[in-house]
Amino acid sequence: MKIDTHLHSVYSFDSTIKTEKLVKKAIERNYEYICFTDHFDLLPQELSKYGILSLKRYKTEIDSLRDKFPQIKIGFGLEMGEMHRTRELREKILYGIKLDYIIGSIHLLRNEKNLSTPINFSLQDSDIMLYYLETLEMIEKGGFDTLGHLDIFKRELQTSIKQHEYIQELLDDILLSLIKREICLEVNYSGFRSSCNHTLPDFPILTRYKNLGGELITIGSDSHRIDFFDKYYDKTVCLLKDAQFDKIFYKYDNKWIENKI
Ligand SMILES: [Zn+2]
Ligand SMILES: [Zn+2]
Repeated sequence: MKIDTHLHSVYSFDSTIKTEKLVKKAIERNYEYICFTDHFDLLPQELSKYGILSLKRYKTEIDSLRDKFPQIKIGFGLEMGEMHRTRELREKILYGIKLDYIIGSIHLLRNEKNLSTPINFSLQDSDIMLYYLETLEMIEKGGFDTLGHLDIFKRELQTSIKQHEYIQELLDDILLSLIKREICLEVNYSGFRSSCNHTLPDFPILTRYKNLGGELITIGSDSHRIDFFDKYYDKTVCLLKDAQFDKIFYKYDNKWIENKI
């Protein structure tokens, strides 16, 4: 049975996926678990541009899907951007709300460069460095279950970049910090739909994570359109097997559930 722990619906500003249509497709394609992880970004510049997701409406919708389709497990999740910079506001808004799953992602750097949309500026070594440092800071501050799309800046890059030695060391710090805090690593396969044509993170990093003792890993399609869902799932599983993983995980009822691949 398959799982997808990173999905956007019409509750995200940038997705066209109708929730019920997605659930039906997931059942058809033999999914055991899917998790809606719509965007929840709390930086002032994002709030003024996109507003804030109504968690009450979102939760009501997911509850009604659960009632209607008991044959599949459906998660109530969020993808939160830049969590290390929004702690106070986030804790206030989420007080008393029981989410199944939170993805912590970096999209926007402190220098205001956005790494998740096509990169139309020259990406400097200092930007990459900042991305890794902010990722590490976010992991250390915690408050989420899974690190989303590590190496997101590679998704829309046209050229390959030279990986400096200090970057390799920082990457190791990130992976070790995830392992130590029992935060899951997401294999995000949106990269197969983009110019980079690899998962985020890519195969060498997945292998490195495994070699460092990492086990907790999950698969997310990061779909924003219905035709993206499930496409390249099998290819991603093959890659994980090649990296010597034999199971993937999803969080349900506050527990990590393992799923053989
Ligand atoms: Zn994202
Ligand atoms: Zn996403």
